[in-house]
Amino acid sequence: MSSTLEQLEDIKWVPTICPYCGCGCGLYLIVKGGRIVGVEPWKEHPVSEGKLCPKGRNAYEFLYAKDRLRKPLVRRNGELVEASWDEAIGRVAEEFGKASPDEFGVLASGKTTNEEGYVLQKFARIVMKTNNIDYCARFCHSTTVGGLGPTVGSGVMEASVLDYELPDCFIIAGVNIHETFPAIARRVRRAKKHGAKVIVIDPRRTLTAKLYADIHLQLAPGTDVALVNGMMRIILDEGLENRKFIEERTVGFEELREHLLKLDLEEVEKVTRVPLEKIREAALTYAQAEDASILYDEGITEYTTGVDKISALADLAMLTGQVGKPGCGVNPMRGQITGEGTGDMGCLPVFYPGFKRLEEETFKFFKEAWGVDELPEKPGKTTMEMLETCKQLYIVGFNVMVSAPDINNVRRMLEEKDFVVVQDILMTETAKLADVVLPAAAWAEKTGVHAWTDRRVQLVRKAVDPPGEAMPDWQIICKIAERMGYGKYFNYGSSRDIFDEIRRCVPQYKGITYERLEKSPQGIQWPCPSEDHPGTPTMFVERFGTPDGLGHFKVVEYKPPAELPDGDYPLMLTTGRVIFHYHTGTMTRRTRRLNGEIPTGYVAISEGDARRYRVRNGDKVYLVSRRGRVMVEARVSDEVPEGLLFMPFHFSECAANLLTNPALAPGAKMPEFKLCAVKIEKEGDK
Ligand code: SF4
Repeated sequence: MSSTLEQLEDIKWVPTICPYCGCGCGLYLIVKGGRIVGVEPWKEHPVSEGKLCPKGRNAYEFLYAKDRLRKPLVRRNGELVEASWDEAIGRVAEEFGKASPDEFGVLASGKTTNEEGYVLQKFARIVMKTNNIDYCARFCHSTTVGGLGPTVGSGVMEASVLDYELPDCFIIAGVNIHETFPAIARRVRRAKKHGAKVIVIDPRRTLTAKLYADIHLQLAPGTDVALVNGMMRIILDEGLENRKFIEERTVGFEELREHLLKLDLEEVEKVTRVPLEKIREAALTYAQAEDASILYDEGITEYTTGVDKISALADLAMLTGQVGKPGCGVNPMRGQITGEGTGDMGCLPVFYPGFKRLEEETFKFFKEAWGVDELPEKPGKTTMEMLETCKQLYIVGFNVMVSAPDINNVRRMLEEKDFVVVQDILMTETAKLADVVLPAAAWAEKTGVHAWTDRRVQLVRKAVDPPGEAMPDWQIICKIAERMGYGKYFNYGSSRDIFDEIRRCVPQYKGITYERLEKSPQGIQWPCPSEDHPGTPTMFVERFGTPDGLGHFKVVEYKPPAELPDGDYPLMLTTGRVIFHYHTGTMTRRTRRLNGEIPTGYVAISEGDARRYRVRNGDKVYLVSRRGRVMVEARVSDEVPEGLLFMPFHFSECAANLLTNPALAPGAKMPEFKLCAVKIEKEGDK
């Protein structure tokens, strides 16, 4: 009896936040004898409300994976072999010391803490004297910045996750919220119970379309601009635009109106392949709602025309005045735990921390704040540009060998580099190609702050020690800086020290402190300008984020995707996620229960195409694009229409990104992950 009691006393419940999607659910890690043994929902946490999706319920097993990195590795005679920290850091410092600023690049992560992102960009700018730093949001939301920046003034989620049960209408565009943002989906379900109407815009019949949609606009892939323009034209024809909002809070309406009046709605129907009556029904439903919200993600953003699509969605929200109200607005959904925070911290080639532009005032501010005489002023390179042109790369928590488009080419580019350092928690596909691999502590092994999709800043607490000699990313970065002679700029004793510096340099975070976060289960949403400010659940209540405070309508015209089917490659392939896996599978595929549910990739094919190409359910087929060839199991499914295939992108052994198109969106430099032309071959075909 007493030994059972002693065992119970040995158990700690550590409150923290789920390491997976952008919702930011609270959970307890159950720690026994210095090891995490389970997860319990955190009942008082307002985002999760005591509920967790399968990923959250299984959030820790990957920490104990066999290939967890425990010691630094350096490449000798072609092999990665264990080395001391002293040797590994010495090698990195020596090689980095030879790099020229233009030929050195840093790829940052949406999974490390805000503090680590901050220290990493400071390292790039002070030590390596370059703005060549970018992070994985380049592959999911760089078009959001290009679309929402000029229209509403900021590429952030306008509303709070907690308020998504308030609207009486939703447009859910290019995002399968049921599988990818379950805590948000739960609120949409509740809104629906209270009578809200849900319009899903998606070429696939996803679970979200099947379970939530009152109206499913199953458009031809990539034709969203034509569809949204058509909806706006119908709203104008019906006189349902919000004149008061347009007059008081926007500019550029007349140009938009003129453009829309020239639109041929029959052409819209033809291009989108959505019956006009359905487009009309959706337009009227959205325009007549009291409070309406637009949620979107990669099905909108990951196109060469992503910026235009997002501008059109912003136009639609402003046309109807659905901005600045709880739960409403145009809401990009960021899929990683620091998807927002790493950008806030300035891991971007054209922004310093706090989204400060590359201009004199910014350089002056940071020279003073950091105590340096010079800072790089020239815009840096984006992720694909760094992969293509830099001779040295420092890759922190970014698995480009699964997540970048046209992986065969990414491999070639990495193999041709002079020197590649990968810092990560596990032996990823990218780490295998590195010259030096540095073992990092994972999310539950360090304390720090992350900013979730709705700008919610929360504290993640250390529950256990990192394995072997692994250490938090910020400590590794500081060690490299010190060895390179820049230690005095990186003299931090804890992540709290770094956060105090962030508060001084990033106005949006000024009022957020560790003490406040420790007491606040729901975190604090930036902007939070002072310590007595409660944070900002809803953006743009009175002013937009543009310099003049007004919303700017932008005229956009439909342009087709970069690669469409033809005689050689007659089918379209789109990619996405499933509920049991997360991004490149690094964590979920090392979690038995999650991987057991969907152990490998598949391609969804319609019944019609299955008949046409003589494919049966479960057959192994080859998918071939102009860039690669992948063998994958076929699943005959009603999820895709004829002509369209779908593959989840989490699985390196049948990586969808061997096939995808690296064509970039102008300006935003987003690759067109969401659509490429493919053909099906079977064993024995030529
Ligand atoms: Fe984690 Fe997202 Fe699931 Fe919540 S909804 S438990 S944050 S993966």
